[in-house]
Amino acid sequence: MRNQQATQLLFELSRPGAAAARLPACDVPERPLGELLPAEAVGDSPPPLPELSEPDVVRHYVNLSQWNMSVDTHFYPLGSCTMKYNPKRNERLASLPGLADLHPYQPEASIQGMLEVLYDCQAFLAEIAGLPGVSLQPAAGAQGELTALLVAAAYYRDRGERRSVVLLPDSAHGTNPASAAMAGFRAVSVGSTAEGLVNLDDLAAKLNDQVAVLMITNPNTLGLFERQIGDVTRMVHEVGGLVYLDGANMNAIMGLTRPGDCGADLMHFNPHKTFSGPHGGGGPGAGPIAVTKTLAPFLPSPIVVKDGERFRLDEDRPKSIGRVRGFFGNTGVLVRMFCYILTHGPDGLRRVSEDAVLNANYLLSRVKPFLPVPHGDRCMHEFVATASELKAQRGVAAMDVAKRLLDRGMHAPTVYFPLIVREALMIEPTETESKATLDAFAEALFRITEEDPDLLHDAPHTTPVSRPNEVQAARQPVLRAGC
Ligand SMILES: *Cc1c(COP(=O)(O)O)cnc(C)c1O
Repeated sequence: MRNQQATQLLFELSRPGAAAARLPACDVPERPLGELLPAEAVGDSPPPLPELSEPDVVRHYVNLSQWNMSVDTHFYPLGSCTMKYNPKRNERLASLPGLADLHPYQPEASIQGMLEVLYDCQAFLAEIAGLPGVSLQPAAGAQGELTALLVAAAYYRDRGERRSVVLLPDSAHGTNPASAAMAGFRAVSVGSTAEGLVNLDDLAAKLNDQVAVLMITNPNTLGLFERQIGDVTRMVHEVGGLVYLDGANMNAIMGLTRPGDCGADLMHFNPHKTFSGPHGGGGPGAGPIAVTKTLAPFLPSPIVVKDGERFRLDEDRPKSIGRVRGFFGNTGVLVRMFCYILTHGPDGLRRVSEDAVLNANYLLSRVKPFLPVPHGDRCMHEFVATASELKAQRGVAAMDVAKRLLDRGMHAPTVYFPLIVREALMIEPTETESKATLDAFAEALFRITEEDPDLLHDAPHTTPVSRPNEVQAARQPVLRAGC
């Protein structure tokens, strides 16, 4: 049963006199606040803060936390986001006091262990990417994109070239054009073929000496491996451009192929999608980037280097674009990545990719008999089904299916992305799920497609918040309790 208490705000739960802390009696002479602070800093009355006991506060927040779905509580097949289960071991290792309690201003000699971890992270990512220069600084995939584009811009400046365009396939993640614009480029879209791959004719038509970078996601957001990646990188290089590989889908290919070997010049990693960084909750995150030897001098500063047996931060990098983030990046996330990579080893990482692809293909084969998958019978780590027939025949939209899944105790897949598939349901099971879970999900989806459309339009029916009116919610947000 849902706890009523969690539907109220702390302010409404407030009881005068309730307190969570009892301070010892004051043992120095008391003086009025007005004597200690300037008059304008002292209010007429105390701020109207809620007064609650400690159990009231704990229950409030624990109850609120249980309103949510998470990978630890529910299956979470959110395509593109890769919500895989993260081993708790890595959380514990990252909280070891020798790592978690370090201060970034400590002298280098006293943080040799952390610097070694970061140095090894750089080496691991360089190996997985097939690209030798690595910066661990960016705080998310999107910031990695921006950082890499700034590196590309610095490279062209250094060569005395002016290039203004970033090309992106129309299946690209929204962060790609946003990063391009933030880095001062003009984003130009390249079309896809009916098969769902980059259209090479359209690419050829848009390539010229103004193109700085092509950003490409491989496997792409339809869950398809861009087989012509070799042709794509060759064509871009022929006009003097660089190829950026959006590495958000590395969880499908690590250990199997490497972006550098495919001709990519720059890329980012999403440790929260590939290597057991915590996912969701707004961070802190990490989005390390890897680049070719030619581009490495432009990477953010500092980089961890090894002199003999000592590790140190190299700040003496005259061509660097400078810092993109305080200190060394979000080391807590990087430590989890380090543990994940070491635990799996090279063969284990390849196995992760293979299992992610196997799980997605199994689920694809179970789902496509009742929800068509327009782009292919085979996929990499995710696939995109469409509810457009269901909508035409029964008036049931992708959103209805997604919301109803919540009633069945499963998180919805990503919907309405990528934009090139109508009524898209983008499903990514990840390698950490069992066959039983995948079967249960396919069964739940199938049942939903058979249900009364009226029931589906109002779903979910069992969650703390039912279906909001999204238009009204955006235009007239109600920010007070009691709605
Ligand atoms: C998740 C994702 C990003 C952005 O990464 P964040 O870490 O969320 O900033 C970029 N591209 C693709 C394809 C993604 O799936």
